[in-house]
Amino acid sequence: MAKYICDVCGWIYDEAEGYPEGNIAPGTTWEAVPADFVCPLCFVGKDQFSLVEE
Ligand SMILES: [Zn+2]
Repeated sequence: MAKYICDVCGWIYDEAEGYPEGNIAPGTTWEAVPADFVCPLCFVGKDQFSLVEE
């Protein structure tokens, strides 16, 4: 599973963990995250996130 980082504040979305506080179940791929998802810290949209290269 991949991780995506917010380009603005550095918050990381981990597909393996999801974001339960936002009703996104663990294992939800970034593509499956709703288009209206916003960063929990700085409220930018999905287009401001980048794939974390590991
Ligand atoms: Zn952010």
